[in-house]
Parts: sequence; structure tokens; C-alpha cells
Amino acid sequence: VFNFAAGPATLPESVLRKAESELVDWNGSGMSVMEMSHRGKEFLSIIQKAESDLRQLLGIPDEYAVLFLQGGATTQFAAIPLNLCKPGDEVDYVVTGSWGDKAFKEAQKYCKPKVIWTGKSDKYTKIPSFEDLDQNVHAKYLHICANETIHGVEFKNYPTVRNPEGILIADMSSNFCSKPVDVSKFGVIYAGAQKNVGPSGVTIVIIRKDLLGIAQEITPVMLDYKIHADNNSLYNTPPCYGIYMCGLVFDDLLKQGGLKEVEKKNVRKAQLLYDAIDNSNGFYRCPVEKSVRSLMNVPFTLEKSELEAEFVKEAAKEKMVQLKGHRSVGGMRASIYNAMPYAGVEKLVDFMKDFQARHA
Ligand code: PLP
Repeated sequence: VFNFAAGPATLPESVLRKAESELVDWNGSGMSVMEMSHRGKEFLSIIQKAESDLRQLLGIPDEYAVLFLQGGATTQFAAIPLNLCKPGDEVDYVVTGSWGDKAFKEAQKYCKPKVIWTGKSDKYTKIPSFEDLDQNVHAKYLHICANETIHGVEFKNYPTVRNPEGILIADMSSNFCSKPVDVSKFGVIYAGAQKNVGPSGVTIVIIRKDLLGIAQEITPVMLDYKIHADNNSLYNTPPCYGIYMCGLVFDDLLKQGGLKEVEKKNVRKAQLLYDAIDNSNGFYRCPVEKSVRSLMNVPFTLEKSELEAEFVKEAAKEKMVQLKGHRSVGGMRASIYNAMPYAGVEKLVDFMKDFQARHA
């Protein structure tokens, strides 16, 4: 099937086949990766290669630590303020969708966050122009969600933080490794793996090293970035198999020519789908402002909304699955992450045209 799920999501078939081929005997060790000590030389070679490949892919400078953690991106909503703020510290949040909103609400428990811009009244279809951001000059950080998975809005460039000592923090869960990123613009980047780079259970945090070691005293050890950085993500048992899978994906992305090449493919796929929606004479609609439409998550509705269930059902019969929109927004959503082939989007677009011809 072509799987358009928002996450956990489709992975490259070649990666799955490779994992299958070494499932019970990794590299002649006689062990599955699931059975290895996380401190043994075999797993150490896996996690070290995963980290070095990710560093190469994103061009991560040496002054940044790369952490492989657990708990999903949701855990980071608390870890961020716990690690970077004292309880009364002021921080800024730009809320461009549900995930940014959740991050803001969690931070309220640990510091003093303020929403300096929200797209709620426009149903989260916009990204603010940076001049409109009323940033607090004392804010310790500015938090954004680089790509809102549910609403399909994506930052195309990034705001500058007004406080000279403040940092920019981005939740990149749903566009991680989908295009090149200048990591040096950020204090922290975090992402759940289960959209573009692996299975659920792994969360990647990229943090500037000078930000380590200032966590609030109440910070649980498992949320303390310094503890994980000092122990190379091996303070406790990490999600070994998930990290191994991420490593296979990073290797595959490098073999594809790196993130510039990956981005080209993603632009081409997204263009095909958005054009099909925009050229349908209103039969299909994407509510998101054109300049900030996501390359990864494409939400769309039908003018005749009563046909939406039929659309999803017929598409599934044609082996295109998980196209139903998020329960909070309805309609359809096609997630077209790195691993979705161009042929999958072509097939979807052909189906959309045929469906329109039959129901217009
Ligand atoms: N942030 C974004 C942008 C997401 O898309 C998601 C999950 O879909 C999350 C955070 C939450 O991630 P997790 O389920 O790994 O906690």
C-alpha cells in the first residue's frame, strides 16, 4: 500500500528489508539488535554511527550535543523549560497549531511562558510575519513548532530572537531531516523519530553545549539533558532497536545524496499534490496560506463534505491508506514524508481526478 499516515508513518522499504535481513543475526554477531547489551561494542558501534551520520546530514557543529532519548516530543514540552529556565523566567511561544499550543501549556508548570502570536482565530492556517512578533526582550527563549503536523503549516525561514542572550527552540518532529537546516540558528532542536526517521520510541534532541547544566533542581534525571549528554545517551537503557532503525534511515538519506537532494524530492511531491488541489475548481480545498504550506502534511477538504468518508474508503480500496484527517480538523490529510515515493503521490492525484470526475 501507499501509507499516508501522519506518524508513525511509512519508512523506506529498503530500510525495512535491510532490518529484516539482519533481524536475528546482526552483522554476524549471532544476536538481534534487540538482544544486545547497550554497553557492548556492537551496540556502541550502532549508536556512534547513527550520531555521526546525523551530524553529517544536518551539518551539526561540534558545539552541539546530539541526544537519543525516550518519551516522545511531548516529554520535551516539559524538559525544555525544566532544563533552560528558573521557575519565574519569562519565555515566548509562537502558536501556529495544536502542537505549539500543547508545548506552551506544559511550559506553564515550570516557568512563565507567554503566547506572543497565535493563529487560532484563522484556524491555524498562517505563519506570522516576524515583524509582527512582539517578543519579550527578557525572554530566555522563543519556542516555535517548525511544522504543524495536524494543520499543515510550516515555517519557511526562522525568526531572530530579540533578547541577545535568548535562544530559538524548535519542535521539528514532523519535518526533521526533510530539508537542510542551519542548526547554528537554534539553541535546541527536538523531534520525535516516528515521522521521517524511524519508529516511535526515539526522540532526538540537538542542543548547544553551553546550555547544559543549568536545569532546575526538581528536574528528573531522565529529563536532564546534561546527564544524557555526559553519558552519550547511555545513562540508562536507551531505545536500542529504535536507534538502530534511525541509523539505517540516516544512512539511506546520505546515500540519496543528503538533505538537499531529499528536499528536492519533497518539493516535487508536494507541488504535484497542491497543484491537483488548487486546479480542481474548488472540488478540493487546502485552507493553508500558500506561502507556508507544509511539504510534509497536506490537509484538504472536499467542497461536498458528505463525500469525504467515501473518498477515504475508495482510496483505501485502491491501496492508499490512512488518508483521514485528524479528528480535530476533519477532512483528509496526506502525509508525504521522505519515504513516500513520487509514485505514491502520483497515484493519489490520479485517484483524486477520477473521484472528482465521478462526483462533480
Ligand atoms: N510535535 C509534533 C509537531 C508532532 O507532530 C507530534 C506528534 O505527532 C508531537 C509533537 C508529539 O510527539 P509524541 O507523540 O512523540 O510525544
